[in-house]
Amino acid sequence: MLMPHYSMPFENRSQLPTRNQRGSSVSAPQHAEIATALLERNRKDPTRLVQILREIVEALGHLPRQVLAMVGAELKLPYGRVAGVAGFYHFLDIDESARYRVLWSDNIIEHMQGSVELCEEMCRRLWIEPGRVSEDGLVSVGYTSCIGMGDQGPALLVNGRSVTNMTRERVAAMVDAIRAGIPLATWPQEWFAVADNIRRRDILLDHRLKPGAALTAALARGPAAMLGEILTAKLRGRGGAGFATYQKWQACRDAQGCARYVVCNADEGEPGTFKDRVLLTRDADLVFEGMSIAGLCVGAERGLLYLRGEYLYLREHLESVLGRRRSAGLLGRHILGSDGFNFDIEIHLGAGAYVCGEESALIESLEGKRGTPRSRPPFPVTHGYLDAPTTVNNVETLACACLIAENGGDWYAAIGTQKSAGTKLLSVSGDCARPGIYEYPFGVTIAQVLADAGASDTQAVQVSGPSGICVAPDEFGRRLAFEDLPSAGAIMIFDDGRDMFQVARNFAHFFAHESCGFCTPCRVGTSLVKNLMDKLNAGHGSPHDIDELFKLHRLMQSTAHCGLGHTACNPVVDTLNKFRPAYERRLHSLEFEPGFDLDYALSQARQMTGRDDAGAHLANES
Ligand code: SF4
Repeated sequence: MLMPHYSMPFENRSQLPTRNQRGSSVSAPQHAEIATALLERNRKDPTRLVQILREIVEALGHLPRQVLAMVGAELKLPYGRVAGVAGFYHFLDIDESARYRVLWSDNIIEHMQGSVELCEEMCRRLWIEPGRVSEDGLVSVGYTSCIGMGDQGPALLVNGRSVTNMTRERVAAMVDAIRAGIPLATWPQEWFAVADNIRRRDILLDHRLKPGAALTAALARGPAAMLGEILTAKLRGRGGAGFATYQKWQACRDAQGCARYVVCNADEGEPGTFKDRVLLTRDADLVFEGMSIAGLCVGAERGLLYLRGEYLYLREHLESVLGRRRSAGLLGRHILGSDGFNFDIEIHLGAGAYVCGEESALIESLEGKRGTPRSRPPFPVTHGYLDAPTTVNNVETLACACLIAENGGDWYAAIGTQKSAGTKLLSVSGDCARPGIYEYPFGVTIAQVLADAGASDTQAVQVSGPSGICVAPDEFGRRLAFEDLPSAGAIMIFDDGRDMFQVARNFAHFFAHESCGFCTPCRVGTSLVKNLMDKLNAGHGSPHDIDELFKLHRLMQSTAHCGLGHTACNPVVDTLNKFRPAYERRLHSLEFEPGFDLDYALSQARQMTGRDDAGAHLANES
């Protein structure tokens, strides 16, 4: 049976108060009234808990504890479960937040573009400390993980809305707008402009498919033949792992169960990646149509698109494309007049958790839970969303399925390399003249990408984000393909003026921040790596600390529960192996040195006891 689609509740979104309209005068009864409306709009469905909490934050600015208790009671969930979910996601604030919450994108590329100095400038002008709410509750300024705007940074989120191309002038104007209490809706629209920055097109970005054409072709073939075309095309997942799409869809189709689901993973959280943002902006029809084709192939009637919370600004656009497709008979019952093909799609918004890009964590989040990765097996193709067979595919993979439906598997397989068919979208950022989106047939060399992007004096390229691989100049002849350099699409360029130690340190901070905390090796390991990198940065490092970093890498690789923990040390180990002098010039001692100044740490105790004699100092103890 076709599940009801979920766009209707969102049609009245504009009638609800927004964070920027709220004031400190909103009373507890009004909180309850707003929460009740949002619960009803989401049919009091516990699987929509993350959506409900997100919408309450949008309306109230935070999640008052009495509202959490009320949500728990209405959804028949224990308070601990609801508070646990709220505490898991970065964008679900339990404590009262400011009327304007500014979060700068903490991406190394944007640091290179001056984001740290601009953030400091903003704090200075507002007379606030980073990370603190101003005393009048008006504003807070802090950092969040990369928001997917590396090609047009420095960028930030203000109350969840993306602002790009920040400059000193824009900082000054924004501070004035905040001080004057001007609602976001009347801020200059060019501040919120997000450019596509497409620099090179190939079969995907240059397609001429009209909405419905690929689906018509797939329906004409039938599910089994369409699956056959996906097999012939040798389509592999574009999220990085490169799993064969045919195998995934066939396993889902063959799995036991009445209901099946198609999930589109649009939780593009890897720092330096922004290709899905562009596909969803200009080719949402292609992505939704790819989901419908997947639904036809696996026998699903319901699709869910998990959109990263940082792309909130895309929600309205995507909802309107879904509405248009429903009106055109491309979603719903008896699609395109077919006898038995029913399929509809709903959008779920993430709430700021990088780990939800992992498919089982994403499914947990879709079910309204903390995004903790599941133990596997069983895999989602047999036990996925609501324990039913589920195929989870990347945005780009689903868009490619449309090209295959229209042109056939042989046509597609002839593009690219033997083991990597088709093309790949790359998100190029960093030290180059032309950052943006590049589409190449698989097999293109790093050197070619650098030349096209206008990069010079490049000392390193980080392929596939922090969890990927750092490539030095002697490797620029390597090819982007599953058999050589697999990539989810991020290409971060660093010229020879950059300090590769600081690049790795930024990535170490990122992983420590994003570890979900479920397993000890990753929770503790990522913090230890971050602390060791900070210790080296402070000039207290010794060779012993370098050995420790290697040990932690081996430990996390072999014992962490999911891919985040397995790869968290990659950038440190890669840069240690390829850019060792960047570390060695920070080693000021051959002996072990503690990571902090113990004598200084005791200064408060000395003050309290009124002692400052030689015996009260560690250095004098022997
Ligand atoms: Fe969570 Fe890290 Fe363990 Fe993955 S490896 S489950 S992110 S703590």
